[in-house]
Amino acid sequence: MVMEIITRAARMHSVSCKFAAEEKPIGLIPTMGALHEGHLTLVREARRMADAVIVSIFVNPTLFRDEEEYKSFPHDLARDADLLTPIGVDYIFAPSVEEIFPKGFATWITVEGLSDKLEGAVRPGHLRGAATVLTTFFNIIHPKFVFMGQKDAQQTIVAKKLVRDLHLPVEIIVMPTVRDENGLALSSRNQYLSLEELRAAPVIYRALHQAEEMFAEGERSAKRLKRAIEKEMEKEPLARIEYLSITDTEWLEPIDDLSHRTALVSIAAYIGKTRLTDNVILDDSAYKSKSGRLKLG
Ligand code: AMP
Repeated sequence: MVMEIITRAARMHSVSCKFAAEEKPIGLIPTMGALHEGHLTLVREARRMADAVIVSIFVNPTLFRDEEEYKSFPHDLARDADLLTPIGVDYIFAPSVEEIFPKGFATWITVEGLSDKLEGAVRPGHLRGAATVLTTFFNIIHPKFVFMGQKDAQQTIVAKKLVRDLHLPVEIIVMPTVRDENGLALSSRNQYLSLEELRAAPVIYRALHQAEEMFAEGERSAKRLKRAIEKEMEKEPLARIEYLSITDTEWLEPIDDLSHRTALVSIAAYIGKTRLTDNVILDDSAYKSKSGRLKLG
C-alpha cells in the first residue's frame, strides 16, 4: 500500500471508518513531526500490533509558550514522510492548525489534578492543549492502540486518565525512551543544541542514572536521590535545572519515601537556552509489570 498524506479531518475520518467496518485495528502515533528514532520505535511497535498505522504530524500551537517558540519548531513534512515510507506507515494525518482549531473553537479537555502539575505548572495550558488534541484525534481516527513514549511521561498519564474517565475505546501503549549512545534522550529539541551543548546535555541522564543506581542499591529517600541528581547536574556549567520532582505515577504527587511503590523521577533542565525534559521510573512496588510494559497512570 502506498502511504497517503491526509490533511482534512473529514477524509481521515472516512478512511478510519473503512478500517473499522473491516474490523481492522488502527494504531495511531501522535507526533509533532521532526521525527527521530524515538518516534520510529513507536511506529515499528504499531506496525507489529495494528492492521493500519497512522502517524499524526501536528505542531500543536497550544504547547508552545509563544508565537516565536512555535515558529522556530522544525517543520519538514517531506523529510518526515521519507522516514515513514520505508517502515510501513499507511497514512500521515497532517492537518493545518485551522482544521483542528477552527475559528470559534471553545471546547477543552482538562484532566483535573494532573494538568497543572510538572509541565503544567511551568507551562500553563500545555497539558490541556495536549489532552484536547489527543481527544480530537481519537474521535477523527478511532485508533484501537495509541503509542506514546515514556519520554513524555506526564502526557501518557494524562492520556490514560482521560481514556478511562471518558470511556474511550482506546488502549494507550507506552514505550521506553530511546537514547543516543551518550544516554541523551532523543528529542526534536536536540537540534537546537550547539556542539558544546550537545556534549553537555548527557549530564541529564547521567544524573538520573545515578539515582537509578542508588535506588538499585537500596536508597529509598527522595530527598537523598534528588540531592544526588542536583549534585551531578551542578558539575555541568551549561546545565540549569528548571524542576526536579519525585512523584507517584498516578496523580504525580510528590513522595518522600519510595518504598513499596512506583516513583517517577522527572526533570526539566536548560542546556544553554534549550529546554530539555527526561525521566526515569524507580519501581519498588510488589507487582512489577510482568509484560515489560511501562507502568504509568
Ligand atoms: P513529540 O513529537 O515530541 O510530541 O513526540 C511524539 C511521541 O513520541 C510522544 O509520545 C513522545 O513521548 C514520543 N517520543 C519522543 N521522543 C522519544 C524518545 N526519545 N523515545 C521514545 N519516544 C519518544
